[in-house]
Amino acid sequence: MLDRSAPVFVAGHRGLVGSAIFRRLSDAGFDDLRSVDRAELDLRHQSAVDAWFEEQRPRYVFLVAGTVGGILANSTRPAEFLYDNLMIHGTVVQASHRVGVEKLLYLGSSCIYPREADQPITEEALLAGPLEPTNEGYALAKIAGIKLCESYRRQYGDDFISAMPTNLYGPGDNFDLEGGHVLPALMRRFHEAKLDGAEEVVVWGSGSARREFLHVDDLADACLFLMDHYSEAGHVNVGTGTDCTIGELAGMIRDLVHPGAELAFDASKPDGMPRKMLDVSKLTGLGWSAGTPLADGLASTYEWFLEALDRGEARL
Ligand code: GDP
Repeated sequence: MLDRSAPVFVAGHRGLVGSAIFRRLSDAGFDDLRSVDRAELDLRHQSAVDAWFEEQRPRYVFLVAGTVGGILANSTRPAEFLYDNLMIHGTVVQASHRVGVEKLLYLGSSCIYPREADQPITEEALLAGPLEPTNEGYALAKIAGIKLCESYRRQYGDDFISAMPTNLYGPGDNFDLEGGHVLPALMRRFHEAKLDGAEEVVVWGSGSARREFLHVDDLADACLFLMDHYSEAGHVNVGTGTDCTIGELAGMIRDLVHPGAELAFDASKPDGMPRKMLDVSKLTGLGWSAGTPLADGLASTYEWFLEALDRGEARL
């Protein structure tokens, strides 16, 4: 169990995941949470990160910072996704080692797995085949991050662990139509169609790709669970154990936001991986499973989006 009074650094606290981890840690009674804004510390620069760690001396680190985005952002900005993430993972892991961080959680992504991996995807599928080309840069950086944590454990005995979440959603998501992931992008597109009185809403791809969606509060809960109870080299998948087609997801969002609207599939946009669902038996075996049904998570996320729009806070 982590000591609730120890200093904890959440790297990436403004993002979808980092903000959820911040909330979860506060709820769990952690009273010394540390964070730093991007404008104050560029996590890609080793010397700056080292200096910050020297000064702050965190005992635990949640490494959830990075450049992230949906299928289009990934395929059009591969250099940024590869460079930024490689550097951020490298600097934070190395600085954590230098100052003797007791435990670090590194967060990967289900896109690390081969495009043709058997479904549901087990942890063993890592590096067993070629990657999905639309997010190869991001995936390579994430794979390097996992191997970095494993290597620091092997060479130095550092207690650095890795979790691989499936597709995430929830409050604080990026609702940008071009750069965001499917769930917030569709939520926004249906919302705008309702306001404009439009009866047709565009959904990228064929609609037949399958994805699994995990509420980010469930992920944050799983991350704390792993930090409290897991100390081994192997990475752990975090998901719900169920998936749906993009067409089905679009239908659920339509029924919630703009009932009766028509779906128009745009086949000029890529589907990406045909299916991406994680095998979560390792994590359930450890004693954790996800609690938020997709319909409930969609409803509360839409509520958050409407409130954030009112406050001018939604990332559009
Ligand atoms: P991925 O899981 O890395 O492929 O990430 P995305 O969330 O970006 O895309 C998931 C799937 O949703 C892909 O098959 C997309 O083609 C499909 N999709 C449908 N409409 C949209 C949309 O408006 N935005 C995004 N990003 N994807 C969409």
